[in-house]
This record gives sequence, structure tokens and C-alpha cells, in this order.
Amino acid sequence: MSTTERKYPAPAVNPEIKPFFDAAAEGKLALKRCAACGQSHHYPRAICPFCASDRTEWTMASGRGTIYSYSVMRRAAPPYVIAYVTLEEGVSMMTNLVDCDFDALRIGQPVRVLWTPTDGGPPVPMFTPV
Ligand SMILES: [Zn+2]
Repeated sequence: MSTTERKYPAPAVNPEIKPFFDAAAEGKLALKRCAACGQSHHYPRAICPFCASDRTEWTMASGRGTIYSYSVMRRAAPPYVIAYVTLEEGVSMMTNLVDCDFDALRIGQPVRVLWTPTDGGPPVPMFTPV
């Protein structure tokens, strides 16, 4: 079963996260990394959530990761899958799993980013099994 018929609202873009969605419009997955402690984080923040430094910088993620956890929303119309995906860069992000057989999903399964259009806004990152 697929979620391609599901409609997604445009994300609310503010100045702190605008570079994320500018990169998204080019099909790139941007992450924030802290120059002080070296850790990456998501969602993007100006202040590092680990050490409170303001020396955060944008980096580009590979777009590859693995399923950390997921739940199939079978009673929704149409059904969809909400998930946490852990990226190769070590960051976990809440997302949807799309274009896949929901019954074949497994924790730890490799996935890759798949940009999903929104209603009048930039695309949002979702993931599909590789
Ligand atoms: Zn830091």
C-alpha cells in the first residue's frame, strides 16, 4: 500500500529553518552541526541543543539511514506510516515512510530520503526502503 494519494500541508517556514527548506527545494537534506562540540542535530536550531553554543553550521546529509521505529496508522484514510529514521550522520528525525509495502517494514531496515510535494510549499523529507 502506498501513501502517494495523501495530501500534505505546506510546512511553516521561519528564518531559523529557511535554509533547510531552500536545500529541500533542491533535493538536498540539510542538517545543523555544532562547530563547538561536533554533534549534529535535527530539527535545525541556531543554538546547539547539546552544548548551547551558537556556533552551529549547515551541512548536507547523505539522505540514507535506517528505521529506528515506526507505526502504521491503519485507521486513517488513507493509511500511512509515521516513523523515526536514524540518518547515517547519527541524527534521528520524525518522518513518514512512503512508497512501500507497510507489512514488509522492519526496524533497522535501510531507507533513503524521498522528497514529497506539499500543498503550495517546499517539499518535505520522507523515506522509502532501499
Ligand atoms: Zn554543541
